[in-house]
Amino acid sequence: MSQFDNARTVYNFAAGPAALPLPVLRRAAEEMTDFRGSGMGVMEMSHRSKEFIGIAEAAEARLRSLMNIGDNYKVLFLQGGATGQFVGVAANLSTVTAVADYVITGHFGQRAYAEAAKYLDRINVAARSEPHTYVPPQDEWQLSGEAGYVHITLNETINGVVFETVPDTGEVPLVADVSSIILSEPIDVTKFGALYAGAQKNIGPSGLAVVIVREDLLARTRPRTPAVWDWFAMAQAGSMLNTPPTYSWYIAGLVFEWLEEEGGVEAIAKINQRKAEKLYGTIDDSDLYSNPVALPNRSRMNVVFTLAQPELEKPFLAEAKENGMVNLSGHRAVGGVRASIYNAMPEAGVDALVEFMKEFEMKHG
Ligand code: PMP
Repeated sequence: MSQFDNARTVYNFAAGPAALPLPVLRRAAEEMTDFRGSGMGVMEMSHRSKEFIGIAEAAEARLRSLMNIGDNYKVLFLQGGATGQFVGVAANLSTVTAVADYVITGHFGQRAYAEAAKYLDRINVAARSEPHTYVPPQDEWQLSGEAGYVHITLNETINGVVFETVPDTGEVPLVADVSSIILSEPIDVTKFGALYAGAQKNIGPSGLAVVIVREDLLARTRPRTPAVWDWFAMAQAGSMLNTPPTYSWYIAGLVFEWLEEEGGVEAIAKINQRKAEKLYGTIDDSDLYSNPVALPNRSRMNVVFTLAQPELEKPFLAEAKENGMVNLSGHRAVGGVRASIYNAMPEAGVDALVEFMKEFEMKHG
């Protein structure tokens, strides 16, 4: 088993753009100037060419199989990242009543809400955690009852907060930002009207957004929606209404293929679970480190923690870097330390971090 064929010089704990599997990068490098005998690299290919259509279709088929996406869902490969889809969701799903419900459990839920608020006549905050260290229980949500959709952020990348279970919103379609959780563990797609993700964590290069939307919701796009955000038009055009982000789509396909080779989502989820348990175990056993998130909502992808003596944070980050563990600082909005441990982070990277944390505590704690 590869444990991702790791011969990197650093363990990169960045939240995104994040580490990609080394075998994927190697393969992309090999194919950079001549994609499988075509005489050209993927970046140079027409998106209408037979080769590229093959790449695009294979990537979609692999994603469908990895996530068990039914035929009644469309899969779109779009541009503008997850932030672009903050608007996409509102433009495509709010219906003409232009009402939507938002459950805000962290930084990106707030951003999604603020962006959608520019487009909607009425937008309702059904629930908001304060501080963002838990998910408010569903029986406390104040849903408007007439919304086109309910929006959640399944995993909050900055706050390290994950939904324990997928909420049930009945007839109202549930829409989730899954940027930092997609493909890391099984997600029951049938529970959602739509899912969307920026690619730069578990899929590929930043800028690409993947949208998975139930077909029957597709004719709701509001008039005057710009073409690049029009899910209906994009679905009809196979995401090629304009030139798609071809190279990113290709890399995404390689990542999906790699994940298949590693045993798929169930297999990677087991490794991810172990990685998270090791880190949280180390935090909970220590007097120096602490994590503020309610136990059932602790993210398995983004592990945030602070040090009891804040003045030790800088030396912690500096010494970690000296030891080959980089990009561990928390988001500039919240500070502290954050270890993002997406699919491409091998368990050995987490073992190295855990060992370093223990040594650092012995030395300074
Ligand atoms: N949602 C979540 C959960 C994210 O983690 C991020 C990026 N870190 C975004 C949205 C924004 O993504 P982008 O920068 O691709 O617009």
